[in-house]
Amino acid sequence: MSTLGSASAGPGERATGRLAVGESRDGSPVGLPVAVINGQGEGPTLYVQAASDGDELNGVGVLRRVVPRIDPADLSGTILVTGIVNYHGFQVAEHRNPIDDTKLNRAYPGDEDGTSSERIAAATFEAATRADYGLDLHQGSTSRMLHETRVRCGPRHRLHGKCLDLARAFDCGYVLDQKGPDGQLARAAPDEGVPMIDPELGGSVGLDERSIEIGVRGVENVLAHLGMTAGTAPEETQIRATGFEQHGAPAGGLVSFERDLGDRVDRGDRLFSVTSVFGEHKAAVSADTEGVFWRTRPRFTRAHCGASKNLHQKRSLAAFGGRSRGACLFRKPQGGCSALLV
Ligand SMILES: [Zn+2]
Repeated sequence: MSTLGSASAGPGERATGRLAVGESRDGSPVGLPVAVINGQGEGPTLYVQAASDGDELNGVGVLRRVVPRIDPADLSGTILVTGIVNYHGFQVAEHRNPIDDTKLNRAYPGDEDGTSSERIAAATFEAATRADYGLDLHQGSTSRMLHETRVRCGPRHRLHGKCLDLARAFDCGYVLDQKGPDGQLARAAPDEGVPMIDPELGGSVGLDERSIEIGVRGVENVLAHLGMTAGTAPEETQIRATGFEQHGAPAGGLVSFERDLGDRVDRGDRLFSVTSVFGEHKAAVSADTEGVFWRTRPRFTRAHCGASKNLHQKRSLAAFGGRSRGACLFRKPQGGCSALLV
C-alpha cells in the first residue's frame, strides 16, 4: 500500500485524497489535493508537485492530463502527486501564500509547527523525500521565458549529475544549471538524497496549451527514463546555461526587443532599443558576447542610470554534446533605469 495523506492505493490502483496542512482561521481543516498511482510492477517512486507558486497554473494543467492517462497496470513503481501546493495562493491566483505573505519555494524544508507556508512545505517535503526522484512544476510568472528545466542543487552537489540526467530526460530544450536560493525544493531535496528538478513551463501566467503539452511530454519522458513505463526517453541535444549576462535599459523610456526568445545572438548584435513615449530614439543595447536570448522581465524599476553595468554577471554555457556556447539573459536588473519593456 502506498499512501500520501488520505490517499492510499495498493498495487495496480490509484487513489486521490487530501494532505492535511493545519487548520484555517475558522478551525476548518486545510488539505492539499493529492494523488497516488501505485504501479502493478516494482520500480522507483517519483514525486511530482504543482502550483507551489499559486498563480502558476501550467503545472496543474499537466497533472490534470497526466494523472488520468497513466494506467497503474502499465506502471512499474509509484507516483506521489501534490496537485496544488500553494493552496491559499491558488484560491486567489496569487504567487505568494497570502496567509503569511511567503513564497513557498523559499520555505523548504519547512516546519510542521511553523507558519502556513512552513507547514505546507514540511508536509510536501516529507512526501518528496519518501520518493527516489522529484519534479516541482513551475512557470515563469510574469517573465517571458523559454521552456527550461532548472537544476538548482549546484554543480558541486553529489547529486548534480543525477539532477542533470533528470533535466535531460524531461527534454524541453533548455536547462538552467545554476545553484538556487535557499529554501527551494529543488535545492533542499537533493540534500536529503532525492534528485529534484524544477521544470519552468513557459513564461505566462495561466493555462497555456503549448506549455502544458511540453510538460506532459516531459513527465512521460521522465517516467520512461526511470524505467517506470515502457516508453523510450529522448536523447536530444539541449542547451545548458550556467550563468548569464544581463542587460538593463541605459535610459528611461520604452524598450523594443529586436530578438526573440531562443534566438542565437552574436557579439555586437542589437538586442533592444529604447525610445521616448513619442518614438524618439534614446539608446540601443547590443550583446557583449555570443549567446542565446533567454528571458525578459517586464518590470518598472526606478534607480540611477549606469548602475546596470555593475550587475552584469559572468556567463558560461555549454550544449549537451560538448559544444561550447555563450548565453545571455537579457533582462531588466534591479538598479537600472526606469523603463518599460514591451
Ligand atoms: Zn514558480
